[in-house]
Amino acid sequence: MFDLFWSSILLFEEFGIDKRLLTQLAHQGITSPTDVQQQAIPVALSGQDLFVQSKTGSGKTLAFLVPALQRIIKQKPLSKRDPRAVIITPTRELANQVFAQLRLLVAGSNIVATKILGGDNFNDQIKALKKDPHVIVATPGRLADHIKQKSCFLAGLELLIIDEADRIMDLGFKAEIDLINTEANHRLRQTLLFSATLEHSQIDALSRNLLKSPKKVTLSQSN
Ligand code: ADP
Ligand code: MG
Repeated sequence: MFDLFWSSILLFEEFGIDKRLLTQLAHQGITSPTDVQQQAIPVALSGQDLFVQSKTGSGKTLAFLVPALQRIIKQKPLSKRDPRAVIITPTRELANQVFAQLRLLVAGSNIVATKILGGDNFNDQIKALKKDPHVIVATPGRLADHIKQKSCFLAGLELLIIDEADRIMDLGFKAEIDLINTEANHRLRQTLLFSATLEHSQIDALSRNLLKSPKKVTLSQSN
């Protein structure tokens, strides 16, 4: 059969993830992982820190959302009040895209997710944070503001995910990422860092600061 010649092409169900996630993926017509998802998801599910470089459009969003949600569904929380996973993206637009994908995956579950984006009403965000969301999708500046104002606490954070790290550095958010890194349970948390490129001069330093003995998944630019 055709499949025998492509034994490296896995199905999402082979990752051993929760049935509810598989159902929500299937509703979107997603059954087979992309290259980056094949390589990144098992590492992320194992609890290891991870650095991923692969080009735009290769499917990095599900490479972090699937293992993040699996952890939230399956493992006991470190804290009942603090967010369990924080996803940092460089811009509002990207945050909205990630959040839309997240919403589809958690439909029908009791996982609470919120967006903390620059430009939105600060007091509304304080109210949303008081509902103790499990997952936050944020832009760096506004999340840093909430940390400084003590309206967001990350002591119980289990997963810190940095999406588009190269663009985050381009936009000058190093200080905000440093603050988030310091606040966010460095000892116990897992960190996943994603970038479309490797060339950025600050990516190495950022990886060293944020990640503990990371596994690296780098797919050639032409992939
Ligand atoms: P990246 O973050 O690497 O730029 P995205 O996560 O935004 O890529 O994914 C690009 C597109 O591919 C999205 O429209 C997404 O829904 C789709 N996609 C991602 N993974 C799969 C998959 N396993 N099967 C089919 N489509 C997928
Ligand atoms: Mg992306």
